[in-house]
Amino acid sequence: MKFYMPNWEDRVDPEFDFTNDSYSESHEISPYENDYYAHQIYKKKQPYDGILFSLSNFQTKLKIKYDEQNQPMIRNKKNIRDYLKIQKYSRLKVMGDCGAFSYVAHHNPPPFYSVHHVAEMYHEFKFDFGVSPDHIAVGFIRFKEEGKKKYVKLSTKERERRRMLTVQNSEEFINLVKEKHYSFKAIGVAQGYSPKSYIESVISLVSQGYEYLALGGLVQYSNLELLKILHKVTPYMEGKKLHLFGVMRPGHITNFEKLGVTSFDSASYFRKAWLRSGQNYLSQEGVWYSAIRVPFSWNKNLIKNANDSNISLQDLENLETQAYDSLLRYSDGKLGIDTALSSVIEYDKLLMRNSENIENIKVKYRKTLEHKPWENCECEICQEHGIDVMIFRGTNRNKRRGYHNTWVFKNKMMSSI
Ligand SMILES: [Zn+2]
Repeated sequence: MKFYMPNWEDRVDPEFDFTNDSYSESHEISPYENDYYAHQIYKKKQPYDGILFSLSNFQTKLKIKYDEQNQPMIRNKKNIRDYLKIQKYSRLKVMGDCGAFSYVAHHNPPPFYSVHHVAEMYHEFKFDFGVSPDHIAVGFIRFKEEGKKKYVKLSTKERERRRMLTVQNSEEFINLVKEKHYSFKAIGVAQGYSPKSYIESVISLVSQGYEYLALGGLVQYSNLELLKILHKVTPYMEGKKLHLFGVMRPGHITNFEKLGVTSFDSASYFRKAWLRSGQNYLSQEGVWYSAIRVPFSWNKNLIKNANDSNISLQDLENLETQAYDSLLRYSDGKLGIDTALSSVIEYDKLLMRNSENIENIKVKYRKTLEHKPWENCECEICQEHGIDVMIFRGTNRNKRRGYHNTWVFKNKMMSSI
C-alpha cells in the first residue's frame, strides 16, 4: 500500500532559529529556494511514498511562466520533481490530478482543465502518474453569489451528468496519452454517487484500457459506505491498481488492502498538528497528545485579552518568555512539572478559548509533559528539536510536528499493519 501526501506548498526553514524565533538569512532572500519539504528533512526513512500535486495549484498559489522555447515553468523549474526538490534517485513518485474540489461549484470544469491541457501539463512537467480530468458528483455545492453564501442540492440527474462527463474525459484522456506517446502513466478516475454508479464508472474505465484506477469524491462517505462501495467495485477490476482520493481511515487500511486498494492520499495527520486540540502529536506507540500552546505575544487577540485583564504589553511578553523558557527547562530536567505547567497555564488563560475549559487543557498538557513522547521518537525532527516539536507556536514548529505525524504514520502505523 502506497501513501501519497497532497502538496499544499508546505515547507519549513531548515535553519530556523527556535531560541530567537527568527528565520535564516537565506530564507529571507528566497523562501522557496531555502526551505525544505518533509522529504528533504528525512534522510533515512521517507515520510510518504509519493506526492499528489494538484494542477489547481497553478490557478491559485503558483503561476506558470513560459521560457523562450515556450516551455512551461514553475519557479524556473521545468520538471515537477525538480520543483518539489526530489533527489535524482529517490523512489518518491509524483502523481498529478486536477484538484477537482477547487471547481466543484462550477457547472463544468474551467477550460484550464480540458483533457488536452491537463495531459500536456503532466507530460511537460514529467509527472510519474497523471489522473484523468474529473468533475465530482457531490450531493450539494456551496458558493457565493452577490456576496451571499448559497447552498444548492444537486439532483441525481446533475450528479449523473458529472459522472458521465468524467467517464467521457477519461476515454479521451487515455486515447490522447497513447496517441502522443506521453511517458506518464495514466490513471482513470471514477466518480459516482452510489455503489451502482461507481460500478458503472469502473466498468467503463476498465473497458477504456486503464491499468490504474482511482475512486474520487469519497470524502463524504462513512467507513461503512466506503467499504460497501469497494466491495461492489473491486470484482470488476481484478489485477488493476486502485487509488483512493483524500481518504484516511487508519482503522481500515487492512480492509482496504484486502479489497484491492494499492494507494491512497491524505494530509489529515499532517494537519492534525495544529487543527485538533488533544490530537496534535502522534507517538510511535500510536497515542495522540496535545501540543502545548505558547502563542506569540504579538497575537492580536492575546493583546486584546491582556488589555481587558489590565495586563501591560511588557507583562504579556514576560508571561510568554516565562512559559516558553519553563518548557525548555522542564525538558532539560531543570524544572519540575508543576512549575512548568503553571507558567504555561497562566499564559494560556489569556487565550480565553470558549470551546474548552482550562481544567481540561491542564489535564491534556500534564499528560504531554509527563510522557515526554518526543524523547522516544526516532525521527530526525524530534531528535533534533526535542520539545520544540511539541510547542504549538508558529509555522516552523507546527509544520514540523505535522511532518513528524506523517513520518510516524508511514513508518510505524502502516508498517505494523
Ligand atoms: Zn518524531
